[in-house]
Amino acid sequence: MGFMRKPFVAGNWKMNTDSLSSVELVKAIASASSEIAGHRVHVAVCPPFVYLQGVVNALSTSSIAVGAQDIYYEQKGAFTGEISSSMLKDIGCTYVLCGHSERRHVIGETDELINKKITAAILGGLLPIFCVGELIEERKASETEEVVTRQVKNGLAGLSADKVSAVTIAYEPVWAIGTGLTATPQQAQEAHALIRKLLGQMYDTELAGEIRILYGGSVKPDNAAELMREQDIDGLLVGGASLKADDFVAIIQAAT
Ligand code: PEP
Repeated sequence: MGFMRKPFVAGNWKMNTDSLSSVELVKAIASASSEIAGHRVHVAVCPPFVYLQGVVNALSTSSIAVGAQDIYYEQKGAFTGEISSSMLKDIGCTYVLCGHSERRHVIGETDELINKKITAAILGGLLPIFCVGELIEERKASETEEVVTRQVKNGLAGLSADKVSAVTIAYEPVWAIGTGLTATPQQAQEAHALIRKLLGQMYDTELAGEIRILYGGSVKPDNAAELMREQDIDGLLVGGASLKADDFVAIIQAAT
């Protein structure tokens, strides 16, 4: 793990929980991780929009941060159904996921739209968690490097070094998300090193060395520690296992 990069574990709840279980879940996570969360490891949870406020309130005395799962790039106006960075800031969000694979491949978001969202998030004072990763067909066709390079370049287009320092990147191979097929630590490290090298070329090596790169894709308590041992893996983005307090806390502990 990088010298300057404090580990970061984020939970993506996707379209799960309800008003009661979202608060119960986060209270259980907060009480079991209070010794380490915020000190030895940064922790965030990303509930559905409608439960954000309740989770923010439940975490008022905790160091666990809250993130949204998506954002729209305009500030306000006639954009029915959308949520802006200022709204997320207003209710106490710190982070926002941008370009999650389900938004790319289920909803159809493009690199260009994701770039606008990342830019708006930073301008609005949020910290984007920018997700990239290849499909299984792309990996089989040896296109992983090309795809991830394109996603990173397009996603960060137009962002100066001082802006991009707000970004956390999450490498999430699509074939590993929700499938139980975790990338091996070597496969993940290879992609993370590629991303860090690319950031060095786009900006400079010092900045590239400071940007956190999380791994995501079927992270569980029993594979978290081995992934975290890799040099360029600075943390974990956790889907399914972040919905079980015991599992998520075990992953937070493994990341310290
Ligand atoms: C995710 O949603 O970002 C994710 C990695 O999901 P899972 O951990 O369930 O594979």
